[in-house]
Amino acid sequence: MVSRVIPVEPFDLVIFGGTGDLARRKILPGLFRRYCAGQIPDGSMIIGAARGDHDAGEFRTLVTEAVQEFGGGRTCEDGTLDAFLAMIDYVTVDARGDTGWAELATKVRKELVNAFYFSVGPGLFGDLAERLQRFDMADDDSRIVVEKPFGRDLETAKALNASLAKHFDETQIYRIDHYLGKETVQNLMAVRFGNMLFEPLWNSQYVDHIQITVAETVGVSGRGGYYDKSGAMRDMVQNHLMQLLCLIAMEPPAKFDPDAVRDEKLKVIRALEPVEPHHIVRGQYSAGDDEADYRTHVEDPSSKTESFIAMKMAISNWRWAGTPFYLRTGKRLKARTSDITVVFKDAPHSIFGAKAGQHNNELRIRLQPNEGMTLDVTIKEPGPGGMRLVDVPLDMSFAEALGPDAADVPDAYERLIMDVIRGNQTLFMRGDEVEAAWAWTDLIIEGWQARADVPKPYDALSEGPTDAMAMIARDGRIWRPIKT
Ligand code: NAP
Repeated sequence: MVSRVIPVEPFDLVIFGGTGDLARRKILPGLFRRYCAGQIPDGSMIIGAARGDHDAGEFRTLVTEAVQEFGGGRTCEDGTLDAFLAMIDYVTVDARGDTGWAELATKVRKELVNAFYFSVGPGLFGDLAERLQRFDMADDDSRIVVEKPFGRDLETAKALNASLAKHFDETQIYRIDHYLGKETVQNLMAVRFGNMLFEPLWNSQYVDHIQITVAETVGVSGRGGYYDKSGAMRDMVQNHLMQLLCLIAMEPPAKFDPDAVRDEKLKVIRALEPVEPHHIVRGQYSAGDDEADYRTHVEDPSSKTESFIAMKMAISNWRWAGTPFYLRTGKRLKARTSDITVVFKDAPHSIFGAKAGQHNNELRIRLQPNEGMTLDVTIKEPGPGGMRLVDVPLDMSFAEALGPDAADVPDAYERLIMDVIRGNQTLFMRGDEVEAAWAWTDLIIEGWQARADVPKPYDALSEGPTDAMAMIARDGRIWRPIKT
């Protein structure tokens, strides 16, 4: 199979916060990989901007180090890094003052596609948007890219949206949720809407329930201060898990077009029922072999912030009424994995008799690691001894099925940045989507606050609090194991 890399138009990309952690770990190495792949044409410019007083040479050194450390061992032809570095420039800019803006304006070429990546805290979004207009750098075709967290509740998200909307149209705003850039996440749409096999069964008549798990083994060490102000609900559920839920549950859009897809996702969020308190379990991890407990890493020794959450959700529409969605995410869990399991109902009647046991199909979609899909099918257990049934996996690892090309697919940030340059918003969250997700999330968080809810402790590197097992067991179901 030959991978097709379609070069984009030459562009100017300004990365505000170009010296920060996100730029060094993701954005700059991602751009280099796309350059190696032949997708970034000569004549483009990538301009780092931050308050630090660096010249272009110093910033190129930072870019070189970032590529070497975080480039994933990408090797390119000799001289490629030098050619990439020739595209790199730097301007000292203060988002809150006037320093550097006039100089930056001389570097941004309006006749090209231009994009401004706000890789800074959300408190600076409004300042940057205002100055881009005041210093006449942006036009109707300019794009701005903003990072999560996009607010911490509905009110702050609305304020952020309003501060951007003063200066940019919604069609120019690219809100990144890097989960949407993952290959397998997009595959959810391909699997559902590109195959006849699944969609007719994709409803409450045939699907018993759906599980979505995003588990990490790491704790909050090193970023406890930030994490303790958000917790699993704000950090993971409101954005990443909600997006996965939308892609799994949405109606087929009429076409693969930004607003058509995002309209359907929004309908899912709006159809979410409020979650009953007994359908949510919050947890906080205890000390493990090599890491202290959650509270040791945060400033507040009596913190009530959750590092784990499990919940049962219901979508009130014709397709999903009666099919629960169980979501689970947390830190210091047994394995690092993100997967979705669609558990189909048992066959209505077994012609093989009671001895054959109960069997059902399950479709597991692994987002990471080892992206792929497994479909459990029921077959006859080989050998003599009558008709005994057994479930066997039809297992497809994308890496194996697609060969070397699968290893070379762009990572989420690479894909999303190229989509910004192409002007394709399909994989970015729209303002009303973000606000709807916060409106639903706020109700739950307000409930915890009103009840002074305290998270349950759970063992480090376990599957979470026992209450989470009990919650799903009350429905006669079990969580699928957290494993890679
Ligand atoms: P960071 O390491 O603290 O970097 C912040 C960058 O912004 C630095 O380049 C800093 O450089 C610049 N900056 C700060 N104040 C500025 C100002 N007034 N004017 C111009 N530049 C300014 O932060 P980060 O981890 O890269 O995160 C950036 C944003 O992405 C945050 O909103 C974060 O929540 C989000 N995010 C980060 C990650 C990640 O993996 N790091 C993942 C998802 C989302 P100077 O101090 O020299 O100005």
